[in-house]
Amino acid sequence: MKIYNTMTRSKEEFVPIEPGRVRMYVCGPTVYNLIHIGNARPMIFFDTVRRYFEYKNYQVNYVSNFTDVDDKIIKAAKEEGVDASVISRRYIDECRKDMAGMGIEPASTTPLATQEIDVMIRMIQTLIDKGFAYNVNGTVYYRTRKFAGYGKLSGKNIDDLRAGNRELQVTGEGEKEDPLDFVLWKPKKEGEPYWESPWSDGRPGWHIECSVMSQKYLGDEIDIHGGGEDLIFPHHENEIAQSEAATGKPFAHYWMHNAFLTIDKVKMSKSLGNFFTVRDISEKYDLQVLRFFMLSAHYRSPLNFSAELMDGAKSGLDRIVSAAVRLSELNEQKEADGSVLSDEDKQTADAFVSKFETAMEDDFNTADAISAVFEMVRYINASLNESSSQAVLSYYHDRLEALCEVLGINTSVREELLDADIEAMIEERQAARKARNFARADEIRRELQDKGILLEDTKEGVKWKKA
Ligand code: AMP
Ligand code: ZN
Repeated sequence: MKIYNTMTRSKEEFVPIEPGRVRMYVCGPTVYNLIHIGNARPMIFFDTVRRYFEYKNYQVNYVSNFTDVDDKIIKAAKEEGVDASVISRRYIDECRKDMAGMGIEPASTTPLATQEIDVMIRMIQTLIDKGFAYNVNGTVYYRTRKFAGYGKLSGKNIDDLRAGNRELQVTGEGEKEDPLDFVLWKPKKEGEPYWESPWSDGRPGWHIECSVMSQKYLGDEIDIHGGGEDLIFPHHENEIAQSEAATGKPFAHYWMHNAFLTIDKVKMSKSLGNFFTVRDISEKYDLQVLRFFMLSAHYRSPLNFSAELMDGAKSGLDRIVSAAVRLSELNEQKEADGSVLSDEDKQTADAFVSKFETAMEDDFNTADAISAVFEMVRYINASLNESSSQAVLSYYHDRLEALCEVLGINTSVREELLDADIEAMIEERQAARKARNFARADEIRRELQDKGILLEDTKEGVKWKKA
C-alpha cells in the first residue's frame, strides 16, 4: 500500500510499526460552533482510511481529539454568558450527531484537551528540563531554534519563518528569546478557565494538546498523523518539535494532509464566512450524499462545492444503493439451490474488487475506487437477475456490501421496510386471499417473514409486528 507522505513529498510503501496494526492520530475540530463541511472533509476521508485498513484486517487504533479550550470557545461563552464547558459540550454533542449522519465511526478514543491537562504539564516540564522550553513570567515558550529538525515537514527554512497566524496571542511578545518561539503554556486572563501549573494559573497552547494526546493513547511513535493541509504549518511542525524533543524518537512515520474544500475556488472557512454547516446540508440532502461527494475526489486535490456536484453525487449514490438493494432482494428470494460459483464468475467479480483495492492502495484514490464500484454495479444491473444462481448472487452481494462498507455507504437503511411498504404488502395479501389466490397470499406472508415481519390474523383484521 502506498501513502503520500507530506514529510518526504513522495508516495511511500506503508510499513506499520507493528505488523497488522495501525496507530493513527487525526487532529479534531475546535468546538465552538457547528462544524462546516470543510471540517467534514478530513473526518470523512480519514474515517475511510481507517475503514480500508480494517477491511485489510489491520487492527486500527484511531485517536481523534476535540479541542475544547481555546480563545474562540471562551469568546462564544462570554457572548452567551455561560461557562466555556457549556459551549464545548454542546458542540461536541452536535458534532457527534453530524458525524453519525455522515457514517463516520467514532474513533477508538476521542480525548478532550481539558481532560489531559496534567499530562500536558508533564510534557512541558520535560521540555523545560531538556532545555527545549523556558518560562518567562508564567508563560512557557518552546525554544524553536534548539530543535534541529524544525521546518522539515513544511519544507520551510527556519531563517525565513514568521510565527504562524494560529499562534496564541499573548501579551509581551517581547519577552520571547526569539520571535519564532511558540507558546506551550499561557497565564489566564480575568474570567478565563484555568488550571494550576508550576508556572502560572493558566492553560496550554494548542500545539501541545495533540503531542500529548497522541503520545498518551498511541505511544511515542505512531504510524499516521493526519489533518487538513492548513495544519502542516505551524501546527504539525510544532507537534513534531515538541514530541521529538520530549521523547528523542521520530514522532509520526507518515504525515497525511487533505486539500481544502473550496467554494468558488476559495477555502471554505468560518472566518471568511463562506461556509455551509453540515447541519445546513442535512436539510437538503441525506448526509450520505455529502460523504459520497467528498470521496468522489482524491483527498489531495482541492474540491469545489457546488449544487451540481452534490446532485451528481446523489444520483451516483442512488445507483449504487439501488443495485445493492436489488441484489439483496434477489439473494433473499433465492432458495438454496446447491449452486457452486464458477471460476469464470469468480474471476469477473474479483476483477472489480481488485480494481477497487488497487485504487485504494495507491494513496487512497477513492475517486478511482468509486469508478470500480460503478463498473461492478453496471455489471450487476446488466447480468444478474432471477435466473442467476444463488452462488453468484450471494458472491456479488457480499463483495458489493464489503466495498460499500469501506466507503461508508449504508445500504441497510434503505433495505429496511418502511411501515408504508409493509401495509401495502398486507393489503396485497388480503386482495390475493379475497381472490382465493392462496399461493400468492402465502408467498407474501413468507416474504414479510424473511424481513422479520410477523403477521397475525385477528378478528379486527391483520396485525403485524417486528420479530
Ligand atoms: P479547525 O476546527 O479549524 O481546527 O479544523 C478542523 C479540521 O478541519 C482540520 O483538520 C482542518 O485542517 C480541517 N479544515 C478546516 N477547513 C477546511 C476546508 N475548507 N477544507 C478541508 N479541510 C478543512
Ligand atoms: Zn493537532
